[in-house]
Amino acid sequence: HLYIPIYLCIIIAIIISINGYRQLKRPRSPQEELRRAVEDNEFLPYLQPIVNHQGRICGAEILMRWHHPNQGFIMPDLFIPLAEDTGLITIMTTQMLTSVKSYLLQNQHYLPDGFHLAINISPGQCNDLLFYNDCLSFMSVFPEGKVKLVAELTEREFIEDTGNAALLFEKLHNLGVQIALDDFGTGHSSLAYINQFNIDIIKIDKSFTHLIGSVDMPSHIVDNVVDLANRLNIDVVAEGVENATQEAYLKLRNIQFFQGYFYDKPIPPAVFIEKMQQQSDR
Ligand code: C2E
Ligand code: CA
Ligand code: CA
Ligand code: CA
Repeated sequence: HLYIPIYLCIIIAIIISINGYRQLKRPRSPQEELRRAVEDNEFLPYLQPIVNHQGRICGAEILMRWHHPNQGFIMPDLFIPLAEDTGLITIMTTQMLTSVKSYLLQNQHYLPDGFHLAINISPGQCNDLLFYNDCLSFMSVFPEGKVKLVAELTEREFIEDTGNAALLFEKLHNLGVQIALDDFGTGHSSLAYINQFNIDIIKIDKSFTHLIGSVDMPSHIVDNVVDLANRLNIDVVAEGVENATQEAYLKLRNIQFFQGYFYDKPIPPAVFIEKMQQQSDR
């Protein structure tokens, strides 16, 4: 009689452990996996140099990479949309800025004054003040004029609440943060945005840069963007510069900043700092 409860206990224990095993084996949903990765700090900032007319590095764009424990590096196009849908993009952006802040702070003597640091923000982030607080805490650690923080706004989705966005941009401007329109010319909203917001910088999309030198290049596109920018007192960054032909063409236009594989691909912050160190020796 004594054995029956013991058998029962053993059977229950087996059932519980099988269930536990099933729980373990159940694949996580992509949302859960993303949340886990945020908690485990698997998102890393890479920095792609931005150069001026003299070919000197005068800034960088922060580009996110997911260092997955099993899958290796995952590119942003594969996880940013989900990060935006789940709202996790806000925490991930905070993580990028915090990490880059400490790299640059320790090495600020290698950075030229007015160092142009660009970070991508998603339209959904224009409706809350978290990004503003991130910028505030970033700017507060550097001496005035050391770093020029630039928020690059993509137009994958339209900004819904333009009133809130305008308010945020005004607050950012008061902090000294500039606003750039990313992928300019690819969407339908570029001109509308210029009308609505106080834009400081336009980034010519790489699809236009890549047409330079090809037989059927519609040169008027680049020319018109630069014309428009000049008239509105807006700086221009050319994205995706891959060869000397493209650089030469763009240099003849009134373009302030250049970015692309011709200069460098996105690199880990430690490697970027080494480059800044070498440049400051020259
Ligand atoms: P983007 O902001 O337009 O960034 C430029 C993309 O072009 C980057 O791709 C960069 O690695 C790539 N690129 C740079 N130079 C060249 C070149 O010479 N030739 C070519 N073919 N490509 C070049 P990446 O790093 O894969 O990022 C893709 C997109 O993901 C970004 O496009 C941006 O929209 C988004 N993204 C990346 N990081 C973040 C982030 O931290 N937050 C948000 N919200 N979006 C991000
Ligand atoms: Ca960008
Ligand atoms: Ca782009
Ligand atoms: Ca883009």
